[in-house]
Amino acid sequence: MAARARRAADLPDLDGAVSGCFACPRLVAWREEVARTKRAAFRHQEYWGRPVPGFGVPDAPIAILGLAPAAHGGNRTGRIFTGDRSGDVLFAALHRAGLANQPTSVARDDGLTLRATRIFSAVRCAPPDNKPTPGERDTCAPWLHRELELIRPTLRVVVALGAFAWAAWWPALRAVYGVRPPSPRPVFGHGAHWSGTAVPEVLGCYHVSQQNTFTGRLTPRMLDEVFIRAKQVAGVD
Ligand code: SF4
Repeated sequence: MAARARRAADLPDLDGAVSGCFACPRLVAWREEVARTKRAAFRHQEYWGRPVPGFGVPDAPIAILGLAPAAHGGNRTGRIFTGDRSGDVLFAALHRAGLANQPTSVARDDGLTLRATRIFSAVRCAPPDNKPTPGERDTCAPWLHRELELIRPTLRVVVALGAFAWAAWWPALRAVYGVRPPSPRPVFGHGAHWSGTAVPEVLGCYHVSQQNTFTGRLTPRMLDEVFIRAKQVAGVD
């Protein structure tokens, strides 16, 4: 699997290759079971039920790094943060920031396009309870690292959504940039910021999960502040 990720010549090749990955037995079983049993509201839909590739422009200065696809969101629609409440919050914010052409993301053919931005997750398959294991994160890392290599020429800032994505970022410094990760690791928090030499800057942002947005832990204004800062760092108007 790692060799296949390294061989990916471009993003379409990578997207196609990751969609056929079966490296994590627990996650393969879960994604397929969810796709078979379905949520009642979506019982007439064909679920994607496979790994979910990244989405966005190939020359992105801004990357948004999430945790993993949602069981009835990305795992259903085949596009990251598409068809669930987390995506509703995220794409509304990206639209306000001028980074998405529309505020909603409901299906792969809904006309959504991004500007200056690419979105992907640390783990590409939906995990039970939204909790991948550290081993699954490490197994999936070659897909993330190859995607970062392919957008490396333009990438200036990474917005890490939540502590899991924040933790998944640091090994990429060595794997993609040949740079030793900081030790101790910078502590995750909303508004956390890290910069190094000749590597993308990293911004911490609470995850756009319902747990955070319904409770007011993460508000639209807080998201707007993160994306304003990301645009400043990336030099995007
Ligand atoms: S989580 Fe990643 S490595 Fe594991 S099966 Fe899915 S795509 Fe493959």
